[in-house]
Amino acid sequence: MPAFICTACGTQYPPSDAPLGACPSCTDERQFIPASGQSWTTLERLRSAYSNKFFRLAPGLTTIETTPAFGIAQRAILACTPAGNVLWDCIALIDDATVDLIKGMGGVAAIAISHPHYYTTMVEWSRALGDVPIYLHAADRQWVMRTDPAVQFWEGDTMPIAPGLTLVRLGGHFDGGTVLHWADWGEGRGVVLSGDILQLVPSRHVSFMWSYPNLIPLSAARVRRIAEILEPFAFDAVYGAFSGRGQIDANGKAVVAASVARYVARISET
Ligand SMILES: [Zn+2]
Ligand SMILES: [Zn+2]
Repeated sequence: MPAFICTACGTQYPPSDAPLGACPSCTDERQFIPASGQSWTTLERLRSAYSNKFFRLAPGLTTIETTPAFGIAQRAILACTPAGNVLWDCIALIDDATVDLIKGMGGVAAIAISHPHYYTTMVEWSRALGDVPIYLHAADRQWVMRTDPAVQFWEGDTMPIAPGLTLVRLGGHFDGGTVLHWADWGEGRGVVLSGDILQLVPSRHVSFMWSYPNLIPLSAARVRRIAEILEPFAFDAVYGAFSGRGQIDANGKAVVAASVARYVARISET
């Protein structure tokens, strides 16, 4: 039985004779069903029409994304750290070339995902890479459409997954919205891999939305809370969910603070 994948968001469902009528992730107000209607594909079909490209984003950080673009044009980032490699976020297409290349780079010790729009085919990735654990925040448990013993839910605001590598739950876009902080990256400069929990914008700032496609913002209180939770962490760079939409290579801590200030000032205007 095929495990159907929603073509709009990339979410994979458990093997079944027929796909669902509609993808719950896309009927949610943080996504949308395209005007052309709900459509489905499978990993086998994806493999025949798409491939993944690897790009060196920064020292120790390699992006993996599908070409031509698929789903919401997600990208994953392979973080090669002295404490082990982590696949940050996930994309729908996994093929033999991708597995060979990742194994050639040392494999991965764990997969960690920012929020449900990146769950995609995470179960396939875990199995192909040696049944590695998939760390997801428990607050988003309801959005796991394909369960697996590899999925490990965590709770609270922070969880160290290796020395110097910490998952930080900021919430916002999703209740369990998580970023990955790598303290020693860049000779101690520190980096935050932010998914779209902190959304990189072209002015090399970050911004915030509850729903990006439908432009439904977050409250000032929520965004202040995000800043509070992030406060103890030092970082210079911030790399987000998408390629070509801006990145922060330096002064990340100050830039995020300025981004929060400008957002809160505008959303609080009376
Ligand atoms: Zn979908
Ligand atoms: Zn999202």
